[in-house]
Amino acid sequence: MSSPLPGRLARLIRQDVQSMHAYAVQDARGLVKLDAMENPHRLPTQLQEELGRRLGALPLNRYPGPRMDDLREALARHAQLPPGYALMLGNGSDELISLIAMACDVPGASILAPLPGFVMYAMSAQLQGLKFISVDLTPDFELDERAMLAAIEQHRPSIIYLAYPNNPTAKLWDDAVIERIVQAAPGLVVIDEAYQPFSSRSYIDRLARHEHVLLMRTLSKFGLAGVRIGYLMGRRALLAEIDKVRPPYNISVLNAETALFALEHEDVFQAHARELRAQRQVLIERLQALPGVRVWPSDANMVLVRVPDAPAAFEGMKARGVLVKNVSKMHPLLANCLRLTVGTADENAQMLAALQACL
Ligand code: PMP
Repeated sequence: MSSPLPGRLARLIRQDVQSMHAYAVQDARGLVKLDAMENPHRLPTQLQEELGRRLGALPLNRYPGPRMDDLREALARHAQLPPGYALMLGNGSDELISLIAMACDVPGASILAPLPGFVMYAMSAQLQGLKFISVDLTPDFELDERAMLAAIEQHRPSIIYLAYPNNPTAKLWDDAVIERIVQAAPGLVVIDEAYQPFSSRSYIDRLARHEHVLLMRTLSKFGLAGVRIGYLMGRRALLAEIDKVRPPYNISVLNAETALFALEHEDVFQAHARELRAQRQVLIERLQALPGVRVWPSDANMVLVRVPDAPAAFEGMKARGVLVKNVSKMHPLLANCLRLTVGTADENAQMLAALQACL
C-alpha cells in the first residue's frame, strides 16, 4: 500500500486514482500456487529449447510489425473464427478491456456487468471515467435476467460484459438468457471466454448472429499467462475503430513469436487442457466428499467452494504451503468462499489435504 502523496504532488495525481487500490497480486514464493487460474503445465524441455532458438534469431533491434498478420491468422484458425470476421490483439485481455472502454468513452457512456465478476471491467470503467453498473447474480450464481434487463432499460449501457464462464463462480450462463440480454443491449456486448480451453460451450458459432457482439479470448489459461496475448473477435468495421486506440507496438516480437510457436504445437496445449479438465472432475468429487464444504460446478480451471470459515481456511492452507484465493470479501454473495485453481494431480492432492486439515 502506498503512503499518501505529500503537498503539491497530491494535486498532480487524480483523486480517484489516489483512493484506488492497485490490482492485488499475492506473494506466492515458496507456496503451491493455486490462486490465479494459471495452467500448471510448462512446455516440454525439447520445445523450450526449440523456442529459445527461435526467439534468439528474432530481429530485436526492430519494432514489431504493427498488424501481426501471421499471429492474427493463426489465432483465427485456432478459434475457428467464421470467415469475414476480424481479430485484434491485446497485451493480455486486460489491455483489450481498457481499449474497449477508451474507444467507447462517449458522453454518458456506462459499462454493465454482473457481480461477482472479473474486477477489470469495473476498473476499466473507473479509469476511463465511465459509470460502472453492476447487477448481482442470484444466490446460486446465475444471471438475474429480470434485473439485467431492467438495468439495460434504465442505463442503456455502452458495453455489457459477460464472462462465459464467469470468474470467480466458474459457471456458464444460460444461453437463452444471454440471447435475450444481447437482443436488449443498445451497445456492445463482450463475451469474455478467457476460460474457453476448459469450457463445454463457446459463443463462437453464434457470433455471426449479432453485429454488436464481440468475443474476447486469451492464451493465458491455455498455458501462456506469462506471454500476455489476448484477442478480440468481431465485425471488421467495428474492430477497425477499436483498433485505432491500440498502442501501435503493443505486442512484443518475443510474445508474438512465442504465441505462434505455441499454436504450431497446439496439440501439446490441448493435451494439457484435457488433463486439467480430468483433474477438475477428480478435485470436485473429492471436495464434495468433505463435510461442511459446498462445491459449485465448474466449466473453468477453478472451483468455487464455500467453507465454514474462509479467512481461517485460507490462512491455514497458506501455513501448510498452499496459496488459494479468499474471495469472501469480494461480494456479499461470496461469503466464506474460496476460489481454488485446478492444478496437477499432485498439487490438487496437497490443496485438498491442506483444506481438510483446516476444516
Ligand atoms: N477475463 C477473465 C474473466 C479473467 O478471469 C481474466 C484473468 N484471470 C482475464 C480476462 C485476463 O486475462 P489476461 O491474462 O489475458 O489479461
